Amino acid sequence: MIPYGKHHIDQGDIDAVVDVLENHFLTQGAKVPEFEQALCDYTGANYCTAVNSATSGLHVACLAAGVKAGDMVWSTPNSFVASANCALYCGASVDFIDMDPATRNIDIDLLAKKITQAKRENKLPKALIVVHFAGFSCDMKLISDLLKGVDIVLIEDAAHGLGGSYLNTKIGACEYSDMAVLSFHPVKSITTAEGGAVMTNSEYFAQQIVLFAKHGVTRDVQLFDSEASDLSKQGPWYYQQLELGYNYRLSDMQAALGISQLRKLDGFVAARQKCADFYFENLAHLPLKLPQNDLSTQGPENQSGWHLFMIELDDSVKLDRKTVYEQLVHKGIGVNVHYIPIHLHPFYQRLGFKPGDYPAAEHFYDRAITLPLYPSLSIHEQKAVLAALEEVLL
Ligand SMILES: *Cc1c(COP(=O)(O)O)cnc(C)c1O
Repeated sequence: MIPYGKHHIDQGDIDAVVDVLENHFLTQGAKVPEFEQALCDYTGANYCTAVNSATSGLHVACLAAGVKAGDMVWSTPNSFVASANCALYCGASVDFIDMDPATRNIDIDLLAKKITQAKRENKLPKALIVVHFAGFSCDMKLISDLLKGVDIVLIEDAAHGLGGSYLNTKIGACEYSDMAVLSFHPVKSITTAEGGAVMTNSEYFAQQIVLFAKHGVTRDVQLFDSEASDLSKQGPWYYQQLELGYNYRLSDMQAALGISQLRKLDGFVAARQKCADFYFENLAHLPLKLPQNDLSTQGPENQSGWHLFMIELDDSVKLDRKTVYEQLVHKGIGVNVHYIPIHLHPFYQRLGFKPGDYPAAEHFYDRAITLPLYPSLSIHEQKAVLAALEEVLL
Protein backbone atom coordinates (compact mmCIF):
# COMPACT_ATOMS: atom_id res chain seq x y z
CA MET A 1 0.00 0.00 0.00
CA ILE A 2 1.35 3.42 -0.98
CA PRO A 3 0.42 5.75 1.91
CA TYR A 4 -0.89 9.29 1.35
CA GLY A 5 1.85 10.80 3.51
CA LYS A 6 5.05 9.63 5.16
CA HIS A 7 7.78 11.20 7.27
CA HIS A 8 11.40 10.93 6.21
CA ILE A 9 13.93 10.03 8.93
CA ASP A 10 17.62 9.48 8.16
CA GLN A 11 20.64 8.43 10.22
CA GLY A 12 21.45 12.08 11.01
CA ASP A 13 18.03 12.46 12.66
CA ILE A 14 18.56 9.27 14.67
CA ASP A 15 22.04 10.35 15.77
CA ALA A 16 20.73 13.75 16.86
CA VAL A 17 18.12 12.16 19.15
CA VAL A 18 20.54 9.57 20.53
CA ASP A 19 23.06 12.34 21.27
CA VAL A 20 20.48 14.08 23.48
CA LEU A 21 19.64 10.83 25.25
CA GLU A 22 23.30 10.13 25.96
CA ASN A 23 24.73 13.57 26.59
CA HIS A 24 22.17 16.28 27.32
CA PHE A 25 19.13 17.35 29.30
CA LEU A 26 16.02 15.53 28.07
CA THR A 27 13.88 18.60 28.58
CA GLN A 28 14.49 22.31 29.31
CA GLY A 29 18.04 22.05 27.97
CA ALA A 30 19.76 23.85 25.11
CA LYS A 31 18.11 22.06 22.17
CA VAL A 32 14.71 23.74 22.41
CA PRO A 33 16.13 27.30 22.26
CA GLU A 34 18.42 26.18 19.43
CA PHE A 35 15.42 24.82 17.49
CA GLU A 36 13.45 28.00 18.17
CA GLN A 37 16.31 30.11 16.86
CA ALA A 38 16.63 27.89 13.77
CA LEU A 39 12.90 28.36 13.05
CA CYS A 40 13.31 32.14 13.39
CA ASP A 41 16.30 32.03 11.04
CA TYR A 42 14.41 29.92 8.51
CA THR A 43 11.13 31.84 8.49
CA GLY A 44 12.43 35.31 9.30
CA ALA A 45 10.09 35.79 12.27
CA ASN A 46 11.53 37.50 15.37
CA TYR A 47 10.16 35.18 18.05
CA CYS A 48 9.43 31.47 18.26
CA THR A 49 8.06 29.33 21.06
CA ALA A 50 8.26 25.59 20.52
CA VAL A 51 5.30 23.66 21.92
CA ASN A 52 4.24 20.02 22.08
CA SER A 53 1.74 20.27 19.20
CA ALA A 54 0.16 22.76 16.83
CA THR A 55 -3.06 22.19 18.75
CA SER A 56 -1.35 23.49 21.92
CA GLY A 57 0.17 26.28 19.81
CA LEU A 58 -3.26 27.38 18.57
CA HIS A 59 -4.57 27.32 22.14
CA VAL A 60 -1.79 29.55 23.49
CA ALA A 61 -2.02 31.82 20.43
CA CYS A 62 -5.69 32.39 21.27
CA LEU A 63 -4.85 32.96 24.94
CA ALA A 64 -2.09 35.40 23.98
CA ALA A 65 -4.62 37.19 21.76
CA GLY A 66 -6.76 37.65 24.86
CA VAL A 67 -9.54 35.31 23.71
CA LYS A 68 -11.83 34.52 26.63
CA ALA A 69 -15.39 33.61 27.58
CA GLY A 70 -17.90 35.73 25.72
CA ASP A 71 -15.56 36.41 22.80
CA MET A 72 -16.01 35.25 19.22
CA VAL A 73 -13.32 33.70 17.01
CA TRP A 74 -13.65 33.12 13.26
CA SER A 75 -12.07 30.19 11.44
CA THR A 76 -12.64 28.10 8.29
CA PRO A 77 -14.66 24.88 8.05
CA ASN A 78 -12.36 22.96 5.65
CA SER A 79 -9.68 22.25 8.20
CA PHE A 80 -8.74 19.94 11.00
CA VAL A 81 -10.87 20.43 14.13
CA ALA A 82 -7.93 21.99 16.01
CA SER A 83 -8.37 25.19 13.93
CA ALA A 84 -11.63 25.86 15.79
CA ASN A 85 -11.33 23.89 19.05
CA CYS A 86 -8.64 26.31 20.25
CA ALA A 87 -11.20 29.09 20.59
CA LEU A 88 -13.59 26.86 22.52
CA TYR A 89 -10.76 25.89 24.93
CA CYS A 90 -10.67 29.59 25.88
CA GLY A 91 -14.41 29.66 26.51
CA ALA A 92 -15.09 31.67 23.35
CA SER A 93 -17.57 30.90 20.56
CA VAL A 94 -16.64 29.99 17.01
CA ASP A 95 -18.06 31.02 13.70
CA PHE A 96 -16.81 30.09 10.22
CA ILE A 97 -16.19 31.67 6.85
CA ASP A 98 -16.63 29.26 3.95
CA MET A 99 -13.78 28.28 1.63
CA ASP A 100 -13.09 29.69 -1.81
CA PRO A 101 -13.44 26.74 -4.23
CA ALA A 102 -10.57 28.05 -6.40
CA THR A 103 -7.91 28.47 -3.71
CA ARG A 104 -9.51 26.14 -1.14
CA ASN A 105 -8.51 28.79 1.39
CA ILE A 106 -10.79 31.20 3.22
CA ASP A 107 -13.18 33.03 0.86
CA ILE A 108 -11.94 36.60 1.07
CA ASP A 109 -15.12 38.15 -0.39
CA LEU A 110 -17.21 36.38 2.23
CA LEU A 111 -14.74 37.53 4.88
CA ALA A 112 -15.08 41.15 3.71
CA LYS A 113 -18.89 40.89 3.86
CA LYS A 114 -18.79 39.30 7.29
CA ILE A 115 -16.52 42.03 8.64
CA THR A 116 -18.83 44.75 7.29
CA GLN A 117 -21.83 43.08 8.86
CA ALA A 118 -20.05 42.46 12.19
CA LYS A 119 -18.96 46.10 12.31
CA ARG A 120 -22.52 47.22 11.77
CA GLU A 121 -23.80 44.92 14.51
CA ASN A 122 -20.85 45.67 16.78
CA LYS A 123 -20.02 41.96 16.90
CA LEU A 124 -16.44 41.81 15.69
CA PRO A 125 -14.48 38.70 16.66
CA LYS A 126 -11.45 38.83 18.91
CA ALA A 127 -9.39 36.75 16.49
CA LEU A 128 -9.44 35.33 12.98
CA ILE A 129 -7.71 32.02 12.28
CA VAL A 130 -6.86 31.35 8.64
CA VAL A 131 -5.51 28.06 7.28
CA HIS A 132 -3.03 27.68 4.42
CA PHE A 133 -4.86 24.71 2.98
CA ALA A 134 -2.60 21.95 1.63
CA GLY A 135 0.37 24.34 1.76
CA PHE A 136 -0.80 27.28 -0.38
CA SER A 137 -0.70 30.50 1.56
CA CYS A 138 -3.89 32.46 1.96
CA ASP A 139 -3.67 35.89 0.39
CA MET A 140 -2.43 37.36 3.66
CA LYS A 141 -1.88 40.88 2.36
CA LEU A 142 -5.51 41.14 1.23
CA ILE A 143 -6.71 39.67 4.51
CA SER A 144 -4.57 41.99 6.63
CA ASP A 145 -5.79 44.95 4.55
CA LEU A 146 -9.38 43.95 5.35
CA LEU A 147 -8.53 43.93 9.05
CA LYS A 148 -6.98 47.41 9.01
CA GLY A 149 -8.77 49.67 11.44
CA VAL A 150 -10.56 46.83 13.20
CA ASP A 151 -9.22 45.22 16.34
CA ILE A 152 -8.98 41.56 15.27
CA VAL A 153 -5.92 39.44 16.04
CA LEU A 154 -4.89 37.57 12.89
CA ILE A 155 -3.57 34.04 13.53
CA GLU A 156 -2.26 31.77 10.77
CA ASP A 157 -2.87 28.07 11.28
CA ALA A 158 0.26 27.30 9.27
CA ALA A 159 0.25 23.57 10.11
CA HIS A 160 0.41 22.85 6.36
CA GLY A 161 2.62 25.78 5.52
CA LEU A 162 6.20 25.42 6.71
CA GLY A 163 8.56 25.37 3.72
CA GLY A 164 6.24 27.40 1.50
CA SER A 165 6.40 31.11 0.86
CA TYR A 166 4.15 34.05 0.15
CA LEU A 167 5.21 37.28 -1.58
CA ASN A 168 8.84 36.27 -1.17
CA THR A 169 8.66 35.68 2.57
CA LYS A 170 8.52 32.27 4.16
CA ILE A 171 5.21 31.13 5.60
CA GLY A 172 5.70 31.60 9.35
CA ALA A 173 7.38 35.00 8.94
CA CYS A 174 4.21 36.71 10.21
CA GLU A 175 4.75 39.49 7.69
CA TYR A 176 0.98 40.11 7.52
CA SER A 177 -0.27 38.42 10.70
CA ASP A 178 0.11 38.57 14.46
CA MET A 179 1.04 34.93 15.00
CA ALA A 180 1.60 31.77 12.94
CA VAL A 181 1.33 28.24 14.30
CA LEU A 182 3.40 25.39 12.84
CA SER A 183 2.93 21.62 13.22
CA PHE A 184 5.61 18.94 13.30
CA HIS A 185 3.27 15.96 13.24
CA PRO A 186 4.83 13.18 11.07
CA VAL A 187 2.68 13.89 8.00
CA LYS A 188 3.65 17.59 8.00
CA SER A 189 6.68 19.07 6.23
CA ILE A 190 9.13 18.30 9.04
CA THR A 191 8.55 16.23 12.16
CA THR A 192 9.41 16.05 15.85
CA ALA A 193 6.95 13.12 16.29
CA GLU A 194 4.50 15.44 18.03
CA GLY A 195 5.31 19.12 18.16
CA GLY A 196 4.58 22.62 17.02
CA ALA A 197 5.70 26.22 17.31
CA VAL A 198 4.17 29.66 17.54
CA MET A 199 5.92 32.38 15.55
CA THR A 200 5.41 36.12 16.03
CA ASN A 201 7.11 39.46 15.51
CA SER A 202 5.44 41.01 18.54
CA GLU A 203 7.39 41.10 21.78
CA TYR A 204 4.12 41.32 23.71
CA PHE A 205 2.57 38.26 22.04
CA ALA A 206 5.84 36.34 22.39
CA GLN A 207 5.89 36.97 26.12
CA GLN A 208 2.24 35.93 26.48
CA ILE A 209 2.78 32.77 24.42
CA VAL A 210 5.72 31.70 26.60
CA LEU A 211 3.74 32.42 29.75
CA PHE A 212 0.67 30.41 28.71
CA ALA A 213 2.76 27.51 27.33
CA LYS A 214 4.71 27.20 30.58
CA HIS A 215 2.20 27.06 33.46
CA GLY A 216 1.57 30.82 33.45
CA VAL A 217 4.77 30.99 35.49
CA THR A 218 7.62 33.48 35.06
CA ARG A 219 11.05 34.14 36.54
CA ASP A 220 11.28 37.49 34.75
CA VAL A 221 11.61 40.18 37.45
CA GLN A 222 10.24 42.76 35.02
CA LEU A 223 6.93 40.90 34.92
CA PHE A 224 6.63 40.26 38.67
CA ASP A 225 3.61 41.54 40.54
CA SER A 226 5.26 43.45 43.41
CA GLU A 227 1.98 44.00 45.23
CA ALA A 228 1.44 40.29 45.75
CA SER A 229 4.73 39.64 47.51
CA ASP A 230 7.56 41.49 49.27
CA LEU A 231 10.16 40.97 46.55
CA SER A 232 13.05 42.02 48.83
CA LYS A 233 12.54 38.76 50.75
CA GLN A 234 12.65 36.62 47.61
CA GLY A 235 15.80 35.05 46.16
CA PRO A 236 16.99 33.38 42.95
CA TRP A 237 14.61 30.45 43.54
CA TYR A 238 11.60 32.68 43.20
CA TYR A 239 8.99 32.61 40.46
CA GLN A 240 5.44 33.79 40.15
CA GLN A 241 2.37 32.36 38.50
CA LEU A 242 0.66 35.24 36.73
CA GLU A 243 -1.87 33.41 34.54
CA LEU A 244 -3.51 30.00 34.36
CA GLY A 245 -1.07 28.41 31.93
CA TYR A 246 -0.37 24.90 30.70
CA ASN A 247 2.58 22.57 30.32
CA TYR A 248 2.89 22.63 26.54
CA ARG A 249 6.69 22.30 26.37
CA LEU A 250 8.50 20.41 23.65
CA SER A 251 11.27 18.08 24.89
CA ASP A 252 14.94 18.41 23.95
CA MET A 253 14.87 15.01 22.22
CA GLN A 254 12.13 16.31 19.96
CA ALA A 255 13.88 19.64 19.41
CA ALA A 256 17.08 17.82 18.37
CA LEU A 257 15.04 15.88 15.81
CA GLY A 258 13.44 19.14 14.67
CA ILE A 259 16.83 20.86 14.19
CA SER A 260 18.06 17.94 12.11
CA GLN A 261 14.82 17.83 10.08
CA LEU A 262 14.74 21.57 9.46
CA ARG A 263 18.13 21.38 7.71
CA LYS A 264 16.50 19.09 5.16
CA LEU A 265 13.28 21.06 4.74
CA ASP A 266 14.14 22.77 1.45
CA GLY A 267 15.11 19.39 0.00
CA PHE A 268 11.80 17.93 1.20
CA VAL A 269 9.86 20.78 -0.43
CA ALA A 270 11.77 20.35 -3.70
CA ALA A 271 10.95 16.63 -3.69
CA ARG A 272 7.29 17.36 -2.95
CA GLN A 273 7.24 19.94 -5.76
CA LYS A 274 8.55 17.27 -8.15
CA CYS A 275 5.74 14.92 -7.12
CA ALA A 276 3.19 17.71 -7.60
CA ASP A 277 4.67 18.48 -11.05
CA PHE A 278 4.23 14.85 -12.04
CA TYR A 279 0.55 14.97 -11.07
CA PHE A 280 -0.03 18.24 -12.93
CA GLU A 281 1.67 16.86 -16.04
CA ASN A 282 -0.09 13.51 -15.99
CA LEU A 283 -3.58 13.98 -14.58
CA ALA A 284 -4.79 16.71 -16.94
CA HIS A 285 -6.73 14.26 -19.12
CA LEU A 286 -8.78 12.89 -16.23
CA PRO A 287 -12.19 14.27 -15.16
CA LEU A 288 -10.71 15.95 -12.11
CA LYS A 289 -10.24 19.39 -10.70
CA LEU A 290 -6.60 19.77 -9.69
CA PRO A 291 -5.33 22.16 -7.03
CA GLN A 292 -4.45 25.69 -7.90
CA ASN A 293 -0.95 25.55 -9.35
CA ASP A 294 0.37 28.82 -10.74
CA LEU A 295 -0.63 31.15 -7.89
CA SER A 296 -0.98 33.85 -10.55
CA THR A 297 -3.78 35.42 -8.54
CA GLN A 298 -1.22 36.07 -5.83
CA GLY A 299 1.87 36.64 -7.97
CA PRO A 300 4.83 34.50 -8.90
CA GLU A 301 6.62 34.99 -5.58
CA ASN A 302 4.57 32.24 -3.95
CA GLN A 303 5.53 28.64 -3.39
CA SER A 304 3.42 25.90 -1.89
CA GLY A 305 5.10 23.48 0.49
CA TRP A 306 2.83 20.80 -1.06
CA HIS A 307 1.69 19.33 2.23
CA LEU A 308 -1.22 17.66 0.42
CA PHE A 309 -2.26 17.08 -3.18
CA MET A 310 -6.03 16.96 -3.41
CA ILE A 311 -8.05 16.11 -6.45
CA GLU A 312 -11.75 16.82 -6.80
CA LEU A 313 -13.98 14.58 -8.93
CA ASP A 314 -15.68 16.52 -11.71
CA ASP A 315 -19.45 16.56 -11.60
CA SER A 316 -19.30 14.45 -14.81
CA VAL A 317 -17.86 11.51 -12.83
CA LYS A 318 -20.80 9.20 -12.22
CA LEU A 319 -19.11 7.19 -9.47
CA ASP A 320 -19.41 8.76 -6.06
CA ARG A 321 -16.33 9.66 -4.05
CA LYS A 322 -16.71 6.70 -1.70
CA THR A 323 -16.64 4.25 -4.61
CA VAL A 324 -13.60 5.91 -6.21
CA TYR A 325 -11.86 5.97 -2.84
CA GLU A 326 -12.58 2.28 -2.19
CA GLN A 327 -11.46 1.22 -5.66
CA LEU A 328 -8.19 3.13 -5.29
CA VAL A 329 -7.52 1.58 -1.88
CA HIS A 330 -8.32 -1.83 -3.36
CA LYS A 331 -5.59 -1.16 -5.94
CA GLY A 332 -3.05 -0.41 -3.20
CA ILE A 333 -3.27 3.39 -3.34
CA GLY A 334 -3.57 4.70 0.21
CA VAL A 335 -5.66 7.76 -0.51
CA ASN A 336 -7.24 9.91 2.18
CA VAL A 337 -9.78 12.73 2.53
CA HIS A 338 -9.13 16.20 4.00
CA TYR A 339 -11.31 17.35 5.67
CA ILE A 340 -14.69 16.50 7.09
CA PRO A 341 -15.94 20.10 7.43
CA ILE A 342 -15.54 21.07 11.08
CA HIS A 343 -19.14 22.24 11.47
CA LEU A 344 -20.48 18.81 10.43
CA HIS A 345 -18.93 16.95 13.36
CA PRO A 346 -21.56 15.97 15.94
CA PHE A 347 -19.89 18.16 18.56
CA TYR A 348 -20.24 21.23 16.36
CA GLN A 349 -23.77 20.32 15.27
CA ARG A 350 -24.66 20.28 18.98
CA LEU A 351 -23.42 23.89 19.07
CA GLY A 352 -26.01 24.75 16.42
CA PHE A 353 -24.18 24.30 13.11
CA LYS A 354 -25.91 22.23 10.45
CA PRO A 355 -25.43 20.75 6.97
CA GLY A 356 -25.80 23.48 4.36
CA ASP A 357 -24.14 26.18 6.47
CA TYR A 358 -20.92 26.20 4.38
CA PRO A 359 -21.78 24.84 0.94
CA ALA A 360 -18.35 25.28 -0.68
CA ALA A 361 -16.58 23.27 2.04
CA GLU A 362 -19.33 20.66 1.93
CA HIS A 363 -19.23 20.34 -1.87
CA PHE A 364 -15.45 20.02 -1.78
CA TYR A 365 -15.65 17.40 0.94
CA ASP A 366 -18.13 15.34 -1.13
CA ARG A 367 -15.82 15.17 -4.17
CA ALA A 368 -12.27 15.38 -2.75
CA ILE A 369 -9.56 12.73 -2.50
CA THR A 370 -6.01 13.22 -1.21
CA LEU A 371 -3.38 11.49 -3.37
CA PRO A 372 -0.08 10.17 -2.00
CA LEU A 373 2.57 12.86 -1.79
CA TYR A 374 5.71 12.83 0.35
CA PRO A 375 9.44 13.38 -0.23
CA SER A 376 10.39 9.73 -0.82
CA LEU A 377 7.45 8.94 -3.13
CA SER A 378 9.06 7.44 -6.23
CA ILE A 379 8.21 8.01 -9.88
CA HIS A 380 7.38 4.30 -10.03
CA GLU A 381 4.83 4.73 -7.23
CA GLN A 382 3.39 7.86 -8.82
CA LYS A 383 2.91 5.92 -12.06
CA ALA A 384 1.00 3.31 -10.06
CA VAL A 385 -1.24 6.07 -8.68
CA LEU A 386 -1.80 7.37 -12.21
CA ALA A 387 -2.59 3.91 -13.59
CA ALA A 388 -5.06 3.24 -10.77
CA LEU A 389 -6.80 6.59 -11.34
CA GLU A 390 -7.07 5.87 -15.07
CA GLU A 391 -8.55 2.43 -14.45
CA VAL A 392 -11.14 3.78 -12.04
CA LEU A 393 -12.09 7.00 -13.85
CA LEU A 394 -11.80 6.24 -17.57
C1 LIG B 1 -2.20 18.86 11.70
C2 LIG B 1 -3.02 20.08 11.87
C3 LIG B 1 -3.24 20.67 13.12
C4 LIG B 1 -2.84 20.03 14.40
O1 LIG B 1 -1.49 19.79 14.48
P1 LIG B 1 -0.92 18.92 15.69
O2 LIG B 1 0.53 19.28 15.69
O3 LIG B 1 -1.17 17.49 15.34
O4 LIG B 1 -1.61 19.35 16.93
C5 LIG B 1 -3.91 21.88 13.16
N1 LIG B 1 -4.38 22.46 12.05
C6 LIG B 1 -4.23 21.90 10.83
C7 LIG B 1 -4.74 22.61 9.64
C8 LIG B 1 -3.56 20.68 10.71
O5 LIG B 1 -3.44 20.11 9.52
